[in-house]
Amino acid sequence: MVSRLEFEIDKFANGFKNTIDWMLKDIHAQEIKEGLQYFNDNKNKLEKDPDSTDALFMIIRLVKTSGFRLKPRNFDNKLDLFIKKYAEDFRTISARDELIMLVGERKRKNVELLFTYPTLKEFTDNLYALANHGKTEVLGEKGRDNYLRDFGYWDRIPIDIHEMRFIIRSGIYHSFSTVDKSDHLRKSDLHDALTRFCRNCLNDYSVEGIDLSTAPGIVDAFIWSFSAIDIYNMCGAVPKCKNCNLRNVCLYSLANTQLVQKIME
Ligand code: SF4
Repeated sequence: MVSRLEFEIDKFANGFKNTIDWMLKDIHAQEIKEGLQYFNDNKNKLEKDPDSTDALFMIIRLVKTSGFRLKPRNFDNKLDLFIKKYAEDFRTISARDELIMLVGERKRKNVELLFTYPTLKEFTDNLYALANHGKTEVLGEKGRDNYLRDFGYWDRIPIDIHEMRFIIRSGIYHSFSTVDKSDHLRKSDLHDALTRFCRNCLNDYSVEGIDLSTAPGIVDAFIWSFSAIDIYNMCGAVPKCKNCNLRNVCLYSLANTQLVQKIME
């Protein structure tokens, strides 16, 4: 007879909150807090300056890299120089041509489309509306959510392989998806599951003044730090369950422990 798995989403949620509290005190606390400060600083930038060059920098970098982390050599330096040279005059024809040269002819249409909006704020508001209908423009899906999350739309989650693994392994997906309609390989379904987890399990839980129940994009930053190879590297390609704070509450770890016990019996 197969015994019941001892997974409970409430216990997992408590363990997850404790893990976030621990991360905010541990060796990577400083860089994680700087990341949260960066999100907070960006939040009002487009309100104050609808053509913020910080927003431009991020959009153009995401266009160039197609949303990936690795950047072509010296690209940031060149983009920095471009922004110093033109500042708020980046909409002139000569500036736009220079920007197209910088991102490459293949991405010309992305830059031209971006420049059809009178301001970056208007572009961003429309991008957010598109995202809520599963659509995008100028940026790819991941780049879109990365940009929106970084510039104040904290309900958008830039899902990549790190988040996919964590949301599925942890039990979040199984607890907050519709079994007969969801697909664990569809990013939008994982996005929805994490959003529901935050709304249902992280209410009354804030870090650095951010209410995480309404900010799954910020929760994502913790998941990413927990998983990324150059930070905690805990729930990466090979999960390190034995050393993980969540080992007694995570679905994957509990299932594996139970399986090993069965084999040993
Ligand atoms: S217990 Fe294992 S699978 Fe679960 S979050 Fe930790 S490393 Fe990932």
